[in-house]
Amino acid sequence: MYDVIIIGGGPAGLTAATYLRRAEKSALVVEKNAFGGQITWSPRVENFPGFVSISGTELGDKLLEQAMEQGAEVELEEVSGVEKLEDGFRVNCLSGASFDGRAVILATGAKPRLLGVENEENLVGSGVSFCAVCDGAFYKGKRVAVCGGGNSALQDAVLLSESCEHVTVIHRRDSFRGEAKLVETLRGKDNVSFLLGASVKALLGKDELTGIVVEHDGLREELALDGLFVAVGHEPDNAAFAEFLALDKGGYAASGEDCLTPTPGFFVAGDCRAKAVRQITTAAADGAVAALAACRWLDR
Ligand code: NAP
Repeated sequence: MYDVIIIGGGPAGLTAATYLRRAEKSALVVEKNAFGGQITWSPRVENFPGFVSISGTELGDKLLEQAMEQGAEVELEEVSGVEKLEDGFRVNCLSGASFDGRAVILATGAKPRLLGVENEENLVGSGVSFCAVCDGAFYKGKRVAVCGGGNSALQDAVLLSESCEHVTVIHRRDSFRGEAKLVETLRGKDNVSFLLGASVKALLGKDELTGIVVEHDGLREELALDGLFVAVGHEPDNAAFAEFLALDKGGYAASGEDCLTPTPGFFVAGDCRAKAVRQITTAAADGAVAALAACRWLDR
């Protein structure tokens, strides 16, 4: 049995693993997709202390390397749920594998939010994408749009503008939530245009996206496109663990300053936790806090 099983291998989970190992607790990180989590979608991270500029994948690799160097174990498995045992928890995976730990740190982050228009999920991979870093290369020389007004959307638009013929940034307000510096970069590009106060009402094309219908200034217009990058934020994926958690109305897990949930021995860290600021720095900070709280709980 491990001292702590960490579900999720993003900045929160990997930082927790590093802190646990430095306190000589055994730690297993179970990640379903890519170590590094959401940051692997970021082309450049320029606000993580100590790095003037680093790609998200490289930062993820460094966090993984650091945790493993300290002796953390890792598994690539999708967790389906957790069971309470007399002396801890059993973490069950879709593959049938299971791992036992005396404590759990849930660090599952958040998943991309959908626009909620018809056929959106069917067109993912056929013109609709949530990740410019992953899929941008497929749209070289093509016309694309990015929907959203946060840092993800702005960063995606900057990246796509480097290889696409044209990028339209579609945002539902007139001002952006993301950094002014990114907006300024985009305003200086000839192949970028903005549709503000606009919303995507429909996706065109049955098996392959051919365009979208956008509404702005009371008008509906069709925009021919090869790709639509949806970057309208994220939402947590905590439902499978709800019996151990107190979820708020957005589905985020409430916890104390020590990242402890209402279930003794069950901690929560990073973007899946109810909190005001969701950044890589705050995810890493949660990982440290949850790990040290788990150590105190194990040593009680
Ligand atoms: P975000 O900051 O929550 O922005 C989401 C954007 O999508 C907002 O502009 C929002 O509009 C819009 N939106 C939400 N629901 C929508 C809908 N149904 N239809 C149309 N538009 C919708 O999300 P994010 O950009 O993914 O960023 C998440 C966090 O990660 C942020 O704190 C961000 O700063 C951080 N981040 C950091 C980096 C980095 O390099 N360090 C990179 C990417 C992200 P409103 O403004 O109208 O609400």
